[in-house]
Amino acid sequence: MFHKFSNRKNLFSIKSQNRSTKICKVRLSKFSLVITTPVLLNKKCLAGWNRVEAIVHKDKDLLESKTTVYCRKAPKQVINPFTAIFLGSAQSRMLRQIGGIYTYHKIAPPPQGTRDPFLYVSPGRFDDQLAQLRRQGFKSSKIEELAGGGVVISFDDGFENVLRNGLEPLGRHGFQGLQYIVSDRIGGLNDWDIAKGDTPERLMDQAQIREWIGAGHAIGSHSRTHRNLRKLSRVEARSEIVDSKKALEDMFGVAVRHFCHPYGGFTAETRELVMEAGYQSAVTVLPGFNPPGSDRYALRRIIPLSAGEFVAKVIHRVMRKLSSTPSGRGG
Ligand SMILES: [Zn+2]
Repeated sequence: MFHKFSNRKNLFSIKSQNRSTKICKVRLSKFSLVITTPVLLNKKCLAGWNRVEAIVHKDKDLLESKTTVYCRKAPKQVINPFTAIFLGSAQSRMLRQIGGIYTYHKIAPPPQGTRDPFLYVSPGRFDDQLAQLRRQGFKSSKIEELAGGGVVISFDDGFENVLRNGLEPLGRHGFQGLQYIVSDRIGGLNDWDIAKGDTPERLMDQAQIREWIGAGHAIGSHSRTHRNLRKLSRVEARSEIVDSKKALEDMFGVAVRHFCHPYGGFTAETRELVMEAGYQSAVTVLPGFNPPGSDRYALRRIIPLSAGEFVAKVIHRVMRKLSSTPSGRGG
């Protein structure tokens, strides 16, 4: 399941306990690497590599031990549009193998004039989706425990309509929600969407977030102000990442272990800042699943769309793009 990083051989670098670094030939099995021939390599080669656990056969004596292995590329994604269809057979199969993270924004009927109706899921549909997940035997999971059959229900931005319309069905179907909060906008509006001409929506205030946590759900950080961290200076990005964590922890007295990159975007530097801040994971808007060995700070998620919604969304995106081209902007 791992990309070859050289066009010659499957070469990986391993870092042993005494911090010496080696590059090795590996044999690839389904979800593990077997190191066969270690040789020494320059330590610098580790920068930007993903970390995976692997079973190592020490030299030729086949003595097995776990070690940390760095591979240059993320595990190969299953590129199959059928895995995007909510509980279609391909998606169900992936969930049963390695679990998955669903991403929701708003639980409400889409208002007229919204730029992206697909960020809304109606309360009835949300209830039905949770019921389907439960009927098919999928269990609520936490990101750090994600495994076969485990499902994380994540929400971006902290919308009040999720509390109003989502709390009851989540509890009734036995799923824990993870809500990524924009710490400087608590009790305010989605001003980052409004600036682009989208519909104003209210964000949970402090009392409502307490109600969310009190009902057994989790919170993560979605930065301080929802600015695109890729466009900020290191100091500004650091403040968005570090100060939001501290603010949420101080406000609500719970550990904030998970981060959601605003707009799903990150750079090597902002990813590093998220790690340094002490988060255990970070999610993106990249679609897909996270096989063992995936980068924990660039997790993929699944948008819960039926086949019809998937097609409609693709058409909607294309139309929106066309209407925002210079020739269509005046309209
Ligand atoms: Zn967001």
